[in-house]
Amino acid sequence: MIYDAIIVGSGAGGGTIARQLALAGWNILIIERGGFLPREKENWDAEEVFQKGRYSPNETWLDKDEKPFVPGTHYYVGGNTKFYGAALLRLRERDFEEVEHYGGISPAWPLKYKDFKLYYQRAEELFEVHGARGEDPLEPPEEKPYPYPAVSHEPIIANIYSKLKKEGLKPFHLPLGIRLNEKHRENSLCIRCDTCDGYPCLADAKSDAHHICIAPILKLPNVHLLTNTKVERLIAKNNEIAEVETDTGKRFQAKRFIVSCGAINSAALLLRSELANRSGQVGRHYMCHNNSAIVALSKEKNNVTFQKTIGINDFYFGAEDSKLPLGHIQLLGKVKGAMLAGDAPWFTPKFATEWMADHAIGWWITSEDLPNPNSRVMVKGDQIHLHYQPTNLEAHKRLLKKLKMILNFSGHRIHFPMTAYLAKKIPIAGVAHQVGTCRFGHDSHTSVLDIHCKAHDLKNLYVVDGSFFPSAGAVNPALTIIANALRVADHLIATS
Ligand SMILES: Cc1cc2nc3c(=O)[nH]c(=O)nc-3n(C[C@H](O)[C@H](O)[C@H](O)COP(=O)(O)OP(=O)(O)OC[C@H]3O[C@@H](n4cnc5c(N)ncnc54)[C@H](O)[C@@H]3O)c2cc1C
Ligand code: SF4
Repeated sequence: MIYDAIIVGSGAGGGTIARQLALAGWNILIIERGGFLPREKENWDAEEVFQKGRYSPNETWLDKDEKPFVPGTHYYVGGNTKFYGAALLRLRERDFEEVEHYGGISPAWPLKYKDFKLYYQRAEELFEVHGARGEDPLEPPEEKPYPYPAVSHEPIIANIYSKLKKEGLKPFHLPLGIRLNEKHRENSLCIRCDTCDGYPCLADAKSDAHHICIAPILKLPNVHLLTNTKVERLIAKNNEIAEVETDTGKRFQAKRFIVSCGAINSAALLLRSELANRSGQVGRHYMCHNNSAIVALSKEKNNVTFQKTIGINDFYFGAEDSKLPLGHIQLLGKVKGAMLAGDAPWFTPKFATEWMADHAIGWWITSEDLPNPNSRVMVKGDQIHLHYQPTNLEAHKRLLKKLKMILNFSGHRIHFPMTAYLAKKIPIAGVAHQVGTCRFGHDSHTSVLDIHCKAHDLKNLYVVDGSFFPSAGAVNPALTIIANALRVADHLIATS
């Protein structure tokens, strides 16, 4: 069998392109190294998910000192979208241009917001994003409304929202890919629970790539899915990929090959295959954002269920005391004792972490990290090495100060970092926002992919996960990955 396309990986990028090509009638084979995530009570058990690592991969990578770590990534049908917080934001219009930062320059993209606009809208429709246009002060231009109304704030969050507004900030309803119908709860897949951000959804109601993209096409006769099968190598003949070799020893052939293993694993696959790397750029410019999770305490009990409904972009491109960009702030999902115990084991006994979690509110702050050729993925044999050099930390420090100010406004005066990402303490295992290892561009000497995400060096190899980002912006990456996969799918269908 020679497939029209083989797609490696079924996450945000791979799942989306698989859906599009399948609906266009292509005969496709999806090869996914993970299986279907089991539906079980433990899906919503914080201790199982965060402390015991029930769904964590059974592998270690090495940092630059050869120290092993278990990467914070997941191998299942649907990829990391099975676990994501489903905050689905567009990059800002200026993110596509060259932007000066404290740590240097964030480079311009070869395409601009106008080239992605239509695909962002389609991505929001496909992933059923719930949001409210016109609230986010830096929202890029869009005439159409979000496909679904914003997820409402619970009273405690509504209170914080109005306090921030009173202080002159412009908090907005965070756009979310959860399938919640607040008007007709009897028809709602989502039950609005307190175990969403970082957990798989037991109610199958999160807009993940498994349920949105893969499940609906599995019944089609032109769609074939191989699970629990890792692609080890791509094999080329005369500037074209001819076949893939899997860890089961089997080989599969196709006219086109679409790699979407996540930015780190895709780079590792190309490096193992010794392909697409004439420029020497594969694996370089790894970015993952400067992220911090902050837990703030108040005297009152926080009885919120679904907490992740506020976003703040007032400091994204700067502030009164900063000409340069600082980044994005959003609420985290409900903080649980088991999460605190995982991050702060000194807070034993259990009742202490449970009490804290009951009185806590969690925030997530994201600043841009900048592409650095020495932040890179390498492979030796089958072993992944991840060398990461933090950049632009000044912006992150300043953003943290802004969050402290916000906490003072909201009455949450005691706070501590759940995971300190500042200075030298960046945990390299935090690869959730991985992008940039096979960037796209016009110049084959400085980029791996062309503007259609085809490898410059090969006629039939495409990469559609987060690898293609030339810069990371400071909003969560999944919507841009999905929009780009829709764009590349259109190109492939139009040119086939
Ligand atoms: C806890 C958590 C919370 C997050 N929250 C958000 C959020 O709120 N908003 C947001 O925008 N982003 C969020 N993210 C990030 C988001 O999930 C990723 O940006 C997105 O899933 C990346 O898509 P991808 O296609 O690049 O890769 P993935 O979704 O990671 O998919 C890659 C797939 O490839 C498979 N694979 C890997 N190697 C091979 C191989 N050799 N052979 C076969 N298959 C292979 C993997 O098993 C996986 O299924 C979060 C991530 C995590 C972990
Ligand atoms: S809030 Fe909704 S989408 Fe999220 S895990 Fe709960 S039921 Fe699923």
